[in-house]
Amino acid sequence: MIRFGLIGYPLSHSFSQGYFTRKFQEEGTQDRYRYDNFPLASIQDFPTMLAQHPDLRGINVTIPYKEAVIPFLDALDPAAAAIGAVNTIRIDQGKLTGYNTDVIGFGESLHDFLAHHGGPSQGALVLGTGGAAKGVAWVLRQAGIPFTYVSRTKSKEQLSYSQLTAAHLAKVDLIVNTTPLGMSPAVDNFPDIPYHCLNARHRLYDVIYNPPKTVFLQKGEAQGAAIRNGLAMLHGQAEAAWTIWRQTN
Ligand code: NAP
Repeated sequence: MIRFGLIGYPLSHSFSQGYFTRKFQEEGTQDRYRYDNFPLASIQDFPTMLAQHPDLRGINVTIPYKEAVIPFLDALDPAAAAIGAVNTIRIDQGKLTGYNTDVIGFGESLHDFLAHHGGPSQGALVLGTGGAAKGVAWVLRQAGIPFTYVSRTKSKEQLSYSQLTAAHLAKVDLIVNTTPLGMSPAVDNFPDIPYHCLNARHRLYDVIYNPPKTVFLQKGEAQGAAIRNGLAMLHGQAEAAWTIWRQTN
């Protein structure tokens, strides 16, 4: 039996175990592969967990360990190194290599979204400056899409929500929400941008997938903007992890 798993804390609402368990059943490989959750109260427990499960060949990493896990790895994929966050680990003959498949999932989903709604973006706003924002920024840079961060904190490099004007929204055709505002259960929350300045030229992408249509997306849609949620990103990161693990298993 070859084992895969997820580390994070807590893991009560994890998507990955259900996704991979269903996948192994559908492919008829459930006697060969299994996927388990490993809630770790401290990342210092990671080496012990690895030693207890020598059959582990791949690990997904979720909140709060995407950055904290890096010192425990032997090698980093260039994208994971550039972003400073790992959500997938491949274990090959005891060697741990870290990858970031969130950016693969986001990149594929974003390019599909833009291709179906107006083509390449000439400029974007990224709402939020946390872990998800760093991955989004990496994808935008790779695609040559100029962008500005919008943050609760004002600085030279980023706008604050109160600074946002009609002129800023007129200059961009893509807005990516990477804040947790609107995520279940606080579904009534939304980023404070001037929605009345949006129009059919705008594309709104929300990395949140639960609920499927956040208030951010609802408000954009009401102005005629094209919208996309984070579900394809979620599936894309899982499939990209599977592609990486399959190289050795
Ligand atoms: P995070 O680091 O905790 O927060 C992201 C940023 O949002 C923060 O850095 C902050 O930026 C802003 N923010 C936080 N609370 C806010 C508030 N009350 N009002 C306004 N801004 C606020 O979270 P994350 O790890 O980046 O994840 C963000 C979201 O992405 C979550 O909803 C997560 O579920 C989702 N996600 C989805 C996928 C997927 O596959 N679809 C993958 C990864 C993450 P400022 O301090 O600069 O304002």
